[in-house]
Amino acid sequence: MRALTVAPGVAGSARVEDLPDPPPSDGAVLVRTLALGVCGTDREIAAGRYGWPPPGRQRLVIGHESLGQVQEAPAGCGVKAGDLVVGIVRRPDPVPCPACAVGEWDMCRNGRYTERGIKERNGFGSELFRTEPGFLVKVDPALGIAGVLLEPTSVVAKAWDHTERIGRRSRSWQPKTLLVTGAGPVGLLAALMGAQRGLEVHVLDHRDNLHKRRLFDALGAAYHVESLRQLDGFAPDILMECSGAPSVVREALGRAAAGGIVCLVGVTDPGHDFDIDVGAFNRAMVLGNETVFGTVNANRAHYEMAAETLARADKAWLDGLISRREPVEQWTRSLARQPDDIKVIIDFS
Ligand code: BGC
Repeated sequence: MRALTVAPGVAGSARVEDLPDPPPSDGAVLVRTLALGVCGTDREIAAGRYGWPPPGRQRLVIGHESLGQVQEAPAGCGVKAGDLVVGIVRRPDPVPCPACAVGEWDMCRNGRYTERGIKERNGFGSELFRTEPGFLVKVDPALGIAGVLLEPTSVVAKAWDHTERIGRRSRSWQPKTLLVTGAGPVGLLAALMGAQRGLEVHVLDHRDNLHKRRLFDALGAAYHVESLRQLDGFAPDILMECSGAPSVVREALGRAAAGGIVCLVGVTDPGHDFDIDVGAFNRAMVLGNETVFGTVNANRAHYEMAAETLARADKAWLDGLISRREPVEQWTRSLARQPDDIKVIIDFS
């Protein structure tokens, strides 16, 4: 079968390889891949800056945003041949830590978790993959190819779940405004979930993009193309930082309203120094009862929340997020960003 592989740590090592079919030890459910989403993490892995191969190997099958169709599954396992499914990315650590022991692998405490297509486990970027039945989530067939958005939506669903849990520390918490910084797929999905909650949604982008402007308009969200500093005076109840741009992260800290929450979703490279007035930051945090927290990955409950989010969304709007499709043989083209990209997918169908 054709598989998309990289040698983690080696820039420019991405290629298509012919590999044997996945071994039964990968899990009892056999899935035929239909599409694979590409995100910043994949680009970092391909650039040699992130990612780990399976133990004893040099190359990793990449791909963690999957969509596939079940080919074979044991009777009564929850999925059956023909179902559209998405694979869960993370596996609990072997100890397991207290979080992994209760199925909260997204909160792993010792860092010994593994991730398909990212950390020590082959991913979903091959014509066929196998997985354990408990690590698949069914997708509404009406979604079609947009089902490939389930994994990034699960990450955003976790961000919302934790934001709302933190909000409940006060019995009076009733957020009204949301500011999303960053207008990539994660920012768009964060805005979608804010709109589904009836919030007044604002989005900050670094560069005007007509297609994105239309997508945000359709959600009833205000699209701003300026810096956070220019939005001075606007202190949202919730700020979701989805750009991962160090300069934006710096401006986001301490920017929420009293009792507000800043949720950091975008990942940054280390090595960006900015001045920060720690006194002013601490003062805003303490006197405003503010929270800043980070969030990564998602557990099964978040995938299910994500499936509900996508089922409630407008299908044409979701399709509008998929801006480019590349065939398997040319998959490395998906790694170079183009100006109008939102979600680039690799088409296995
Ligand atoms: C994936 C997460 C993963 C994270 C860190 C993200 O791109 O969506 O599932 O936990 O990278 O490896």
